[in-house]
Amino acid sequence: MTHQALPAQTARPRTLHPSPRTAGPLQLVPPTQRSRSPRTPSKLPRMSELAIDIGDHGRVIDLSREPDAANRLPRGRAGGRYRCCACGSALIFTGPATPDSGFTPRFRHPGSTGADRCTAPATHQADIQSDLTVVLDLRERLARALPGTVISLTAEPQLAGQRWALPPALVIHQGDQVVVVERPRRPLTRTTAETRRQHVRATYGERTAHWWFFDRDDTQQYLSAGTVKVRPHGTPDTHPKVRPTPAQRQLVHNGAAVCWIAKDTVLIPYGGHPGTYPAHDGEDWSGEMASWAKDWKISHPYPADSATWWGLVPLPLLTFGAHTGFRPAPAFQVMHALEKAQKGRETHRRRLAREHAQRPKPETAAVATASAPTEASSPHPSSQPAPAPAPVEALAVHRAPGQAAQTVQPPRADGPPLQKRAQVAPIQESGSHPRFTWRALLRLLRPGKTSR
Ligand SMILES: [Zn+2]
Repeated sequence: MTHQALPAQTARPRTLHPSPRTAGPLQLVPPTQRSRSPRTPSKLPRMSELAIDIGDHGRVIDLSREPDAANRLPRGRAGGRYRCCACGSALIFTGPATPDSGFTPRFRHPGSTGADRCTAPATHQADIQSDLTVVLDLRERLARALPGTVISLTAEPQLAGQRWALPPALVIHQGDQVVVVERPRRPLTRTTAETRRQHVRATYGERTAHWWFFDRDDTQQYLSAGTVKVRPHGTPDTHPKVRPTPAQRQLVHNGAAVCWIAKDTVLIPYGGHPGTYPAHDGEDWSGEMASWAKDWKISHPYPADSATWWGLVPLPLLTFGAHTGFRPAPAFQVMHALEKAQKGRETHRRRLAREHAQRPKPETAAVATASAPTEASSPHPSSQPAPAPAPVEALAVHRAPGQAAQTVQPPRADGPPLQKRAQVAPIQESGSHPRFTWRALLRLLRPGKTSR
């Protein structure tokens, strides 16, 4: 396992080249096929391998990931610089007498003879070990995605021995930009999230990009809400949907970036706003058209507050290394394509609604009843006035530099019908049944129900 770049080393940001979409097709295993809690794929380090080095800005040491530690770190008490992460005691660092003695470097508590004993409760030790393991695992993945970048993990000395709600964050230095990456393992409260946010801003500045990587396999952090069928760039795809937790919503509201991670895949959220197209003059959304009045709109590049659910664009973690500013540009491109498809969809459906309004009506009910048997997939006719669509607020996001906020086009509840032509070709419904009424003609023009 390669050794991580250390904060003491000189930052040497790699040359970052903009690149075209690098997101390849990804096969995510559905959550139901996963085991419940594979949160800590790595073997937990023993407490004797972990320490906070207050002689090196509070750097968290994991000897299992630093094979050269014995050659680099001063041994013994070293002025009390090594602190136990769980109990806060000053530790003693011991290493091999000779390079080939086979002795495993370790930290031990002073006064302990034989087996090393930490006085912290076992559950507390286990939490600290797990917290640090998931953070250090993420650091290794990020180091592969951002070769040559300095990624540090430090803990303030007073944290040694404390029961923290949130592990220390990773700090990435890219040139003169700082990116702070959180990797919460335990359920995150809004208070904890806000406290950390304020701390990061106070420490690194208001412009610091603050990312929160949640565990895709943790059912407390990933509240599945099914899937949504999409057609970015005309290609059918399925995106997972989540119900964001209050803390996750708050983070995005306050300008942080949220994503989920499953191994080397990250899931970048956009907002989903289900709603019903308000009828414009000359449109008839009743009867068979009722279901086409129901649709959803996207808010991006970050979900708006009013989003009912968040759709997720999968992206290889490596993509972060291909763009400046720790920016998942390919995911934002997909979101932009979704918005474009959405506009084409609305234009197409409104045209159908206008055509529907011009059809003769009197015998409709009788004909529909007579030819109803194959209409199992038809929507429930609704005579209710269409409810107002979910409000889609313009996004006024304040982001890291280089992250252009995009404004969502809100549905025009009382505006004129869109005059421009559909940008996206209507999707023909495949396998539709032959019809013998005017409805058959309508159906030929009808987009696939799941087209996006
Ligand atoms: Zn201890």
